[in-house]
Amino acid sequence: MNNKGGTVYLVGSGPGGCDMLTIRAREVIDQADVILFDQLPGEEVLASLPKSAELIDVGKYGDRHTREQDEIELLMIQKAKEGKQVVRLKGGDPFMFGRGGEELETCREHGVPVEVVPGVTSAIAVPASVGIPVTHRKWASQVTVITGNEDPTKEESAIDWEWLARSRGTIVVLMGVKNLPIIASTLIKFGREPTTPVAVIERGLRSDQRETVGTLTDIGDRASAAGVTPPAVIVIGGVVEMYRSTDERMILPHCAKNA
Ligand code: SAH
Repeated sequence: MNNKGGTVYLVGSGPGGCDMLTIRAREVIDQADVILFDQLPGEEVLASLPKSAELIDVGKYGDRHTREQDEIELLMIQKAKEGKQVVRLKGGDPFMFGRGGEELETCREHGVPVEVVPGVTSAIAVPASVGIPVTHRKWASQVTVITGNEDPTKEESAIDWEWLARSRGTIVVLMGVKNLPIIASTLIKFGREPTTPVAVIERGLRSDQRETVGTLTDIGDRASAAGVTPPAVIVIGGVVEMYRSTDERMILPHCAKNA
């Protein structure tokens, strides 16, 4: 191998504050020569990045692509081949969307050693923060996590909406704010009960977390009235009955101490 000792670490930051980082994540972050990050890990984690490292914001937000994915991957490989310890820091878990799999493939193609440092995914932790378990014997013995980036009305959708609507499990949608109304109406069209409860949790596990709840029928209107913006996790299914607002939660909101 001609990488002269460089390694790429694909690191999950978890959904919120520094205490949601794993010990391994903290370790490799603190020892990194270069850190490639975007905004998803959130302010607290980003503020904790070591000043000794070269910090490169490769952020992509919504439709605004600061740098293309190819460019990010090339930079990551180039730095590793210079012998650097390179952290590619990603929100949540690196392999739950967010293109971590592609970054792993690129490392393999270039013969660059890579370590994957799993993180706490928002898909599970953000619902949990408002009392929603994604599975529960009473409501759901399966859970499907999907990207909401796909317009369900597109013919060639990679998601089987009909199957999903009929499945009896919980549906967790990431990146779904924009398409929420069309996702809800598609699920109803294919047979999900219109009264199925839905929770939309913005900026989960951060000090400015906010929740909007409703049903498949009205969640689109409620979310737009509330002015919901990304990042948000959408949970659809009976388990949303477990939702409790801050006053009723009886479990300490994790982010309360940051407030
Ligand atoms: N790898 C990440 C997901 C990347 S896709 C993970 O495992 O969590 C980006 C999407 O994740 C966002 O659009 C949003 O749907 C969700 N997300 C990530 N962090 C979040 C947070 N703190 N609060 C709400 N949604 C979050």
